[in-house]
Amino acid sequence: MKYSEPRWLSGLPRWGGRFPLLPSPAGNTNTPSARKPDSEQDPRADARRIAALAMRGCCSVCGYPFTAAVWCHMPPDVVEANGVRVAQGVGPMHLSCALFSSLSCPWVSSRPKAGEVPVVTGFAGYGVMLGGRHPEPSGTPLRFGYFDAVERVPHTDLRRRYEQSLVTDEPDTAQPRLWWGDDVEGEQRLAQCCAEDSRTLREMHDTAPAFPSVARVWPASGGHIDLTADPKLRAVARAALAAAAANRHNVQDMAKAVMAAAAAGRRSLVRDVSRIPERTVAL
Ligand SMILES: [Zn+2]
Repeated sequence: MKYSEPRWLSGLPRWGGRFPLLPSPAGNTNTPSARKPDSEQDPRADARRIAALAMRGCCSVCGYPFTAAVWCHMPPDVVEANGVRVAQGVGPMHLSCALFSSLSCPWVSSRPKAGEVPVVTGFAGYGVMLGGRHPEPSGTPLRFGYFDAVERVPHTDLRRRYEQSLVTDEPDTAQPRLWWGDDVEGEQRLAQCCAEDSRTLREMHDTAPAFPSVARVWPASGGHIDLTADPKLRAVARAALAAAAANRHNVQDMAKAVMAAAAAGRRSLVRDVSRIPERTVAL
């Protein structure tokens, strides 16, 4: 490992195998028995864990609660709508935890081109994206909507900013770390969280003013951000329809196609965003 880890990661299990010392994030499975046989025993992201952490205002890496802005690995080509950027399965983190992941993750840190690498981006808050269907904390990752961007860390500045963050970050370590083992007890606690999250998500869905919208989770002020009025979103929705019509299912292809359709003024594709099936408005 090239970089010392944040002290609040001590106590997390280690990857073992090829990367014996690397901490296994709270949002991952941990034990080899829970890992896919073809993944060389590496931990893998668990959509249920990431959802449970995010729904409770906790970091996907260390499992401790947030106290201020949140950060994530934002894919570089995510489209913003009404000040919100939506990314599927991209859980919120502390700055130090996000930067440590960028610096130490064997996959992220080895990607050669900056344009391919997720950008560590900070936001004042985040929520859960709601389409026309009640989201479930299951095998399908939730889509998180991040709003009020505060900072974007350039790839060239990761290490300096990481060292700063070790001093300035203040995870709430007085609270217990939210974490689950892969044993029976851990699975039972995780199942309980999923049941609670399912109820909360249904309530968020049932009280949404429109679809798509984002139900705020952090800061814990509640409420929704209505995305339907945003022209960019409408453009993305049009592109998604075009992509769906062309039978292309890659969401980034959809977004690009939507933008192209909007630029070309293909008005026949315009529809009421709230009536578009959820699958086709993935940003
Ligand atoms: Zn953290």
